[in-house]
Amino acid sequence: ERELVVPAKGLVVLVGVSGSGKSTFAARNFAPTQVVGSDSCRGMVSDDENDQSATADAFGLLHHLVDTRLRRGLLTVVDATNVDSSARKRLLRIAADNDLPAVAVVLDPPEQLVRDRGAARADRALPDSALSRQYRQMRNGLEGEGFHEIHVLRDPQEIDSVVVRTRP
Ligand code: ATP
Ligand code: MG
Repeated sequence: ERELVVPAKGLVVLVGVSGSGKSTFAARNFAPTQVVGSDSCRGMVSDDENDQSATADAFGLLHHLVDTRLRRGLLTVVDATNVDSSARKRLLRIAADNDLPAVAVVLDPPEQLVRDRGAARADRALPDSALSRQYRQMRNGLEGEGFHEIHVLRDPQEIDSVVVRTRP
């Protein structure tokens, strides 16, 4: 059974394409208030979690929430794809500005599983091309960006069974 140790005070950046299981993973391992998600932020500023025109405002809110929580010393988990290095850099900067560590948790289950789950999904229909683009972006590694640790989970059974512990 794999244990995943994250800082009790710090930032956990989930990384994974749409449908990789980030929200499911976050809900299983963290309290709802610890999870700041791009979709819930989009919903809060537009009444529609799929309204792409609200993306800039949604991320403005997300970054503000992350910054506020970290300033208050609260463990914070970012539930967004974060496949783009510029998105990660922004979050790393917020953690550094608050003198707190950031760790990355990369969810990378087999692509066929992700595509099958996506096809069966009622809440979202992502075009194939968008998912392919996210996979291309994901190939750029996270090494050297400034994460204290990078945990990569690929085995679906491991993703389902991993135990998250906090280190003071
Ligand atoms: P998005 O970036 O679009 O928000 P996501 O990475 O948050 O996607 P989820 O919403 O967690 O992905 O999962 C996508 C679909 O896969 C959902 O229908 C969910 O029920 C299913 N799923 C996710 N994780 C698992 C799992 N561990 N076992 C079985 N089904 C799963
Ligand atoms: Mg999600």
